[in-house]
Amino acid sequence: MHVAIIGGGLAGPCLAHGLQRAGFQVTLHERDPEPARGQGYRIHIASEGNRALHDCLPEHLHRLVLATAGTPGSGVTIFAGDLTVINRFVVNDPAAELTPDSGISVDRLTLRTILLAELEKVTRFGSEFTGFEVLPGDRVRARFADGAVQEADLLVAADGSMSRVRRQLLPHARVVDLGMRLIFGKTPLTGEVAAITPAESLDGFSTVVGSGGRFMPLAGHQFRRDPREAAAEVRSGLEFTDTRDYVMWVLGTPDDVSALDGAGLRDAARERVADWHPHLGEIIRRADPATVRTASMRTSEPVKPWPSGPVTLVGDAIHCMVPAGIGAAVALRDAALLTRRLTDARDRGLPLVEAVHAYEAEMLQYGFEAVAAAAKQAGLTTA
Ligand SMILES: Cc1cc2nc3c(=O)[nH]c(=O)nc-3n(C[C@H](O)[C@H](O)[C@H](O)COP(=O)(O)OP(=O)(O)OC[C@H]3O[C@@H](n4cnc5c(N)ncnc54)[C@H](O)[C@@H]3O)c2cc1C
Repeated sequence: MHVAIIGGGLAGPCLAHGLQRAGFQVTLHERDPEPARGQGYRIHIASEGNRALHDCLPEHLHRLVLATAGTPGSGVTIFAGDLTVINRFVVNDPAAELTPDSGISVDRLTLRTILLAELEKVTRFGSEFTGFEVLPGDRVRARFADGAVQEADLLVAADGSMSRVRRQLLPHARVVDLGMRLIFGKTPLTGEVAAITPAESLDGFSTVVGSGGRFMPLAGHQFRRDPREAAAEVRSGLEFTDTRDYVMWVLGTPDDVSALDGAGLRDAARERVADWHPHLGEIIRRADPATVRTASMRTSEPVKPWPSGPVTLVGDAIHCMVPAGIGAAVALRDAALLTRRLTDARDRGLPLVEAVHAYEAEMLQYGFEAVAAAAKQAGLTTA
């Protein structure tokens, strides 16, 4: 059986590993021309996502994920704009061993480098999906912007919140743009930056909340081990582009800043915290503009089950949510669950569509529960 996966972000490569390990033929299509791009922020992977990585990746690559994770912090802190602590929750024992069931914070670029390792033979970069058609016999043909086509038994959308696969398969599925933009960037964690960063932000995750709908997540990422050293132990040849420790900051703003470049975004972020504690503006000022990006805040509306077929979806492509530290874990969980359902069906001689249906029923349930939980956490609903 051949599975074509559209999207090489987080869920796509995780699924490709899981299926490859289980003996399926896989092709992974990523529209970016090459693996590295501005995805270098710190990302929290909740325990279910770490477990999914453990279940899908070759054992040595999962070990590398844990080795290159950030040093675990002990809590979550909410600050006012003047950096007084509004609330602090101790959630972790930073001295505890990391296991496949630990929540971890990772550098997204490092994680993606590991995720794409050992998929070289099955990955096509610069392969932008444009549409599909279902063929007689329930096979599917995918088309790409460069004129290429590929036939497969199953097409999986892992192409993120603006998924083209979803727009064709489920044109009624709505993704709401909340009119808030995130500006995010990395500031190298030099001694000077460490001195002006609140200690709580280096010992876990923190968010500054202020007037006018502004908020600013702020957290240090200190690699447990230098990724290059750790990679040399488990597998040579993996190259990491930037392995410096850093402070990640994100600024939520209602203004449309999408036309600005990295330096412009950095300045815009700084202007928006001018009335906050001066250290916050200074952390932003010291960011490397090449790492500063923007993204829209979007959330998917619940979708009713549809008749299952040879096209399905994982991750943000079906259930994107406002940032709450769980979107990535849920996307990875989808990849592991779909791998399990496909493997069970193959081993028991059941039709593919039954496996897809069982996956979709379960995924829609927990996926949209997570969307609702994220919205509640962000104060968008009270339900
Ligand atoms: C600033 C920021 C911070 C975040 N922090 C966290 C966090 O701490 N914890 C957490 O759990 N979540 C976090 N998230 C959310 C998390 O990043 C997403 O939930 C997660 O990336 C979803 O993974 P995915 O594989 O479904 O989609 P994506 O990671 O979006 O990957 C989609 C991939 O598909 C490719 N693609 C798109 N269209 C096409 C096409 N037509 N053809 C081929 N390829 C295509 C894209 O180039 C991309 O590589 C954060 C998001 C942002 C923006």
